[in-house]
Amino acid sequence: ATQKQAIKILMLPWLAHGHITPFFELAKRLAKHRTIFQIYVCSSLVNLQAIDPNLARTHSIELVELHLPSLPDLPPHMHTTKGIPLHLEPTLMKAFDMAAKDFELLLDRLEPDLLVSDLFQPWAVQAAAARNIPVVNFVVTGVAILTRLVHAFCNSGREFPFPEIDFSGHWSSKRGRKVSDEVGRDWALRVLKCLRMSSDVVLVNTSPEFEGKYIDFLASSLNKKILPIAPVVPQIKPNGKKPEILKWLDKKSPKSTVYVSFGSEYYLMNQDREELAHGLEQSHVNFIWVIRFPKGERLTIEEALPEGFMKRVGDKGLIMEGWAPQLEILNHSSIGAFVCHCGWNSVVESMVFGVPIVALPMQLDQPCHAKVANLAGVCVEAERDDEGNVKREGVAKAIKEVVSEESGEALRGKAREIGEALRKREEGIVDEVVREFCSLSQPKNDD
Ligand code: UDP
Repeated sequence: ATQKQAIKILMLPWLAHGHITPFFELAKRLAKHRTIFQIYVCSSLVNLQAIDPNLARTHSIELVELHLPSLPDLPPHMHTTKGIPLHLEPTLMKAFDMAAKDFELLLDRLEPDLLVSDLFQPWAVQAAAARNIPVVNFVVTGVAILTRLVHAFCNSGREFPFPEIDFSGHWSSKRGRKVSDEVGRDWALRVLKCLRMSSDVVLVNTSPEFEGKYIDFLASSLNKKILPIAPVVPQIKPNGKKPEILKWLDKKSPKSTVYVSFGSEYYLMNQDREELAHGLEQSHVNFIWVIRFPKGERLTIEEALPEGFMKRVGDKGLIMEGWAPQLEILNHSSIGAFVCHCGWNSVVESMVFGVPIVALPMQLDQPCHAKVANLAGVCVEAERDDEGNVKREGVAKAIKEVVSEESGEALRGKAREIGEALRKREEGIVDEVVREFCSLSQPKNDD
C-alpha cells in the first residue's frame, strides 16, 4: 500500500518521561505494520527530545511538535543534567491546556484517522471528536488507581469492592504531591471526561496476571473493552560496548544486589536520602543507587550522603548520578530486588525481569501501585515513620526480607512467575490492538 492509504494514527501522551516512553513503545510496535499504519507522535519539544530521533526514523515514526506557550515559570528548555525533560505541574498543565488551539491546527493539517490519547487532555479528545476522529485512550498507570478514581468521582452508586485500594498509604510528606487534594480531583475529572468522549476500547499497560480483578471492574464500570497490553517496555538491544555498570554487576553473585531508583521526576529530600543510605548500609547487601538532584541544587555525591558512607560501603555500593540504564540493570542476574518509588513503568519493568520490589512510594499514584504489587505477592513496603519519612530500619528490614531471607523466596518465585507470563504475552498482544485500530478507523457508513 502507498503512504496515502495507510491509516494515520496520531499519538498524544501527557508531557512526562514516564508517559512518553510507553506511548513511543506502542508507536514502535504499531509501526512494524507499516503498510497499514503511519504513526505520528506529538508532544512538546522538550518531551520529544526524550525520544531517540534515529529510532523514530528507523521506524518511520514522525515526531510532531506541539507548541506550548511560554509561561514565566515554564522555561522552554528546562532539562535535568542528563537531558531528561523536567517540567513542573501545575504550570505544565496550564501550558498544555493552552496548546489546545495548536493541537486543533495540527489535527486539521495531519487529518489523522485515529487519535491515541493520554487521559489528562480532554480538550484533545474533544477536538478529535468534533472532527469525527475516533479516540482510543491509552492508560500508562496501573488500573487499580484508575478504578478508584473513576469510582470516587462518577457516583455510580455501587460500593467500591476493593477497600484495599484507597488514597491513603505512604506519601512523602514534604515534597510529594497527593492524589486526594484539589489537584487529584481536577486530574480525576479530566480522566473521566476523556474516557467518556473516547471510543469503547481502552488500552492499559498492565496485565491480567497482575491486575485482573481491577481490569474486570473497570470494564464493567465504564462499559468498555479494556485491553491489557503490558508489557509495553523498551527492548534491550546490546550495542557492542558493555556499560561499566554491567561489568561491575558481573562481579557480584546472583541476586545479591539491589537497584535503587526513584524514577525520572522525584528527588529525595535530604533527610530521606540520609535514612535510605543508612538503611542500605544496615542491610549489608550490594547496591546500585541512582541519585538525582533538582536543577540548581549543587551538592556533590559526598556532600549528599552521610559522612564516610562511601568509604564504609566500599565496593558493595555504586552510586550513579542522574540516570541509569534501568532495563539493562534489572535484566542482570546479580539483581535481587528493586528499591523502587513504584512509578508504574518501573513496576512493569521490574515484573518483566522477574525482580521483586522493595517499595518506597513517594507521591501521586505510587502508594497505590505499591499496594497492588504487594497484593500480587511481589513487593514488600519499607516501613516509614508516622509522617511518611523514610526510616533506615524499615529500609534495611524490607531489603533483607526480600533479598537475603528465606521468607523472600515466595516473593522471588512470584516475581519470576509474573515475569514469565508477561514475556509470553508480548507476541500476540499488538495484533489485537492492530485489529481494533483498523476496525475503529474504518469510515462509518451513515445510511
Ligand atoms: N528510568 C531510567 N533510568 C533512570 C530512571 C528512570 O531508565 O535512572 C526510566 C525507567 O526505566 C522508566 C522511567 O524512566 O521507564 C520512569 O518511569 P516511572 O513510571 O517508573 O516513574 P516516573 O519517572 O514517571 O516517576
